[in-house]
Amino acid sequence: MNRMDMLKYILINVIETLMRWVPIQYKRTLIKIGTPDRNSPVFLTCNYHLTVERLKRVLRGVDCYILPSNSRGFNVWCGATGGHFNNHSVISSLKTSGIEKLVDHRNIILPQLSAAGIEKKVIKEKIGWKVIWGPVYAGDIPEFIENGFRKTLEMREVKFPLVQRIEMGVMWAFPFSMISGLIAILLFPGICLPLVAFIWLLSLLMFLSFPLYTRWLNPERKNIAFSRYSVIFDFSRLPLIFWGCVIIILVFYSILSGEFSTGFIFRWCVISLIFILLISIDLMGSTPVYKSGLHKDRFLKVYLDEKKCKGAGFCEQVCPKNCFNVDVVQHIARITEENRCVRCGACIIQCPFDALCFKSPEGKFLPPENIRKFKLNLFGKRLKQIL
Ligand code: SF4
Ligand code: SF4
Repeated sequence: MNRMDMLKYILINVIETLMRWVPIQYKRTLIKIGTPDRNSPVFLTCNYHLTVERLKRVLRGVDCYILPSNSRGFNVWCGATGGHFNNHSVISSLKTSGIEKLVDHRNIILPQLSAAGIEKKVIKEKIGWKVIWGPVYAGDIPEFIENGFRKTLEMREVKFPLVQRIEMGVMWAFPFSMISGLIAILLFPGICLPLVAFIWLLSLLMFLSFPLYTRWLNPERKNIAFSRYSVIFDFSRLPLIFWGCVIIILVFYSILSGEFSTGFIFRWCVISLIFILLISIDLMGSTPVYKSGLHKDRFLKVYLDEKKCKGAGFCEQVCPKNCFNVDVVQHIARITEENRCVRCGACIIQCPFDALCFKSPEGKFLPPENIRKFKLNLFGKRLKQIL
């Protein structure tokens, strides 16, 4: 990559991180990387612009094809769990892009997180292409290729590393600070700049400190939640804890800067509470399918019907939290890390024997066909919940 390309790549990353709310689409045409031949691998991904740009960069030096497929500009995980990146997207891309004339094989590598919306079995049955689940993170693809297109345990797991946390902090801070800044210019020009700076600091602080409080984000920790079905405060009083910390900082700052007054403290307390609630309302959703206080299916548990399980291990291959352990001797899966589950539904969708489903705390079952057919909306509710 020459200097100009690098500069362009950095600019795209900066601008599209600031505008992450906007589903910027990459054009849906086959991309050649290097000089691919008839046996070269084919990577299919969503048509979210930033994802395709990053994938192109990771695959530099590998002779292959990239096929951006319709996800309406959503990223892989959000697109797949929301139903925008689906079987139809994959089938229509494979059939209309011309790739079938360019390669002799019928293997397509899909990002693992698309397993929450794309059915391997359907793709094979309908058009004869075999889906191979690639790693969760594009950065692991070179190692995945070296391993003979096999994933290690680490490649299967979703994490929330520092860079991603910074991106999420920026993603929230930019629109909120822009809107509030504009309103402040019109109504209270004096606080415009401090307000913008405050929102950025708050948002970055909340996401950077994520590892410190992540263990309290388990929705089942009833002992520290206000109430089981309350919305905003469901996560362990975290917004209030944040607010308390911000108030302490505000008091110290105002005393040290000589601005201490009840009016000053009151104003910034109200402002900080509003933004803490706004940002934390989907704190877990931002990672992106951890269940936030809004996600109605966050109390569901994955249920395994041992009589139906044949130990095929499809569930283990797609689980982004490594919840499964498949006993290859006894040919049976076990959910060994149930508490890590983020209810993405990928294991249920991919199980060829319908041995998995969701079970509600009341003991009702949400069958696999429901999970396959009805995807999550922004509030974490399937169009047809049947609960
Ligand atoms: S639960 Fe389904 S996918 Fe997992 S091992 Fe059993 S049969 Fe295979
Ligand atoms: S066990 Fe939970 S996290 Fe893992 S694939 Fe199934 S629903 Fe997703």
